[in-house]
Amino acid sequence: MSSKGCTYNGGICRETVEPCGGCGRIVEFSSAWYCSACPEPAARWRNGKCNLATHVTAETEVASKAKVNPLKASKRASKRK
Ligand code: SF4
Repeated sequence: MSSKGCTYNGGICRETVEPCGGCGRIVEFSSAWYCSACPEPAARWRNGKCNLATHVTAETEVASKAKVNPLKASKRASKRK
């Protein structure tokens, strides 16, 4: 959704869904709320958290930092021996 309107699927953008609440990408257009980054917000949340959301970014960064590359961890462990 842009200031010129929606260009998605014949000009029909979907309104934001409940988990979008608090996101900085929400814009009001014709007295309804739309996402400025995604034409179908429900699809963004279908398989977990929306990766464009501004209100859950910190949480996803923490989760990605906690991930350990198993290959690197194995090499590190072998060096210690
Ligand atoms: S970026 Fe994601 S969370 Fe934010 S409004 Fe768009 S679909 Fe919703």
